[in-house]
Amino acid sequence: MEDIGSVTGLVHSTESFGSVDGPGVRFVIFMQGCKMRCKFCHNPDTWAMTNDKSKERTVDDVLSEAIKFKSFWGSRGGITVSGGEAMLQMPFVTALFTKAKALGIHCTLDTCGLPYSTQPDTLAEIDRLLAVTDLVLLDIKEINDVRHRELTGHKNSTIIDFSKYLSDKEVPVWIRHVLVPGETDFDEDLVALGDYVKTLANVQKFEVLPYHTMGEFKWRELGWDYPLVGVKPPSASRVANAKDLLHTEDYQKYLERVKN
Ligand code: SF4
Repeated sequence: MEDIGSVTGLVHSTESFGSVDGPGVRFVIFMQGCKMRCKFCHNPDTWAMTNDKSKERTVDDVLSEAIKFKSFWGSRGGITVSGGEAMLQMPFVTALFTKAKALGIHCTLDTCGLPYSTQPDTLAEIDRLLAVTDLVLLDIKEINDVRHRELTGHKNSTIIDFSKYLSDKEVPVWIRHVLVPGETDFDEDLVALGDYVKTLANVQKFEVLPYHTMGEFKWRELGWDYPLVGVKPPSASRVANAKDLLHTEDYQKYLERVKN
């Protein structure tokens, strides 16, 4: 039988003390490769399926690095696999989570959902991954498909279908919406997104992530034009408006109910 600790994945980088990628303090593994082309992406250096900065690493190697930080995780933290797009390397993530869960570690998958497919082999692979996943962080970038295509280069139906699949399987999910002025901050879309998320049975948290420009320099380093030049982070009042229209407070109450 194959030792799953020797399964390899292409890792872009790791972060020892992640605080925004799931509950508590987390060790975050950023995988190399993503097929979305989000205009606001702050990690465009993860897009290529391989590059000279990423490293092929084994599950055991990554896990032994993560475990060094276990004492900082408390009862809520753990590991998060992010990207790039983590689901493009499912055998690695599944093996990592399988070994981590055997050690009692909380495992979070941060995904854009684009690799979802009902093709039987892929779906079986997704099921194996979800069986060892405690929480999924899923971005819904735009509920309006025309704007979604303009923003990411892809239709949103695959992501919406994946959100329904996760709901049917009762996998705990945090939905996240990056609020970008002129791109994802339209009242009618926010209302529609809020209405849609209410139909899902598994949402523990609904977050508005205000757009920021911290990744802009990476586009320049790659020699690429930044698509959102001049776009500023949303104002506090637009963030409050989005939270209101998306009813994010309702999900916070759910979390409090679960905690008590
Ligand atoms: S899905 Fe994430 S990593 Fe991929 S392009 Fe969009 S923001 Fe960047």
